[in-house]
Amino acid sequence: MKLTVIQGDITKCAVDAIVNAANSSLLGGGGVDGAIHRAAGPDLLAECRMLNGCPTGQAKITGGYRLPARYVIHTVGPIWRGGNSREPELLASCYRRVLEIATERGLITVAFPNISTGVYRYPKDQACAIALKTVQEFGQQRETSVHEVQFVCFDDENFRLYQQGLSTTA
Ligand code: ADP
Repeated sequence: MKLTVIQGDITKCAVDAIVNAANSSLLGGGGVDGAIHRAAGPDLLAECRMLNGCPTGQAKITGGYRLPARYVIHTVGPIWRGGNSREPELLASCYRRVLEIATERGLITVAFPNISTGVYRYPKDQACAIALKTVQEFGQQRETSVHEVQFVCFDDENFRLYQQGLSTTA
């Protein structure tokens, strides 16, 4: 499994699936969630309404509609509450569940945003370490169709952290 880091807008990524850092209602929000719904168009929200939400640490797949990506895998990251509320385990679960769903569907390329590091306030360095470790372990331990995982960083700090993290662990 190849891991790459890019800086930019995930709604522009022409991959099999982009990942949405959603909230548990799956009915849209701000940040990357708002950007994905705006770019995908109203049919995405219509499909999301039928999913009955999603618990923290879990994930659900929909079509990509007007996005260049074929699918959106919506996952709900933990809200940072200081670190003693199972945040690390729940964040790792997001990355793992997305890759399990992508594998079930036979998808090859998946692009992740930096889950929980926006309004959910997860410390970016800790979130980056968990994302890289979880995805790398998945690639090493599981049979998967996923050949490329892109970490799509919106802000400079995340971009720098992921570049650093990949250069020291790859
Ligand atoms: P959360 O509620 O999980 O914290 P946010 O959407 O607030 O979700 O933030 C998650 C990450 O997504 C942040 O690092 C933010 O900078 C980033 N982000 C916001 N818009 C986009 C976008 N269009 N493409 C990729 N990443 C984005």
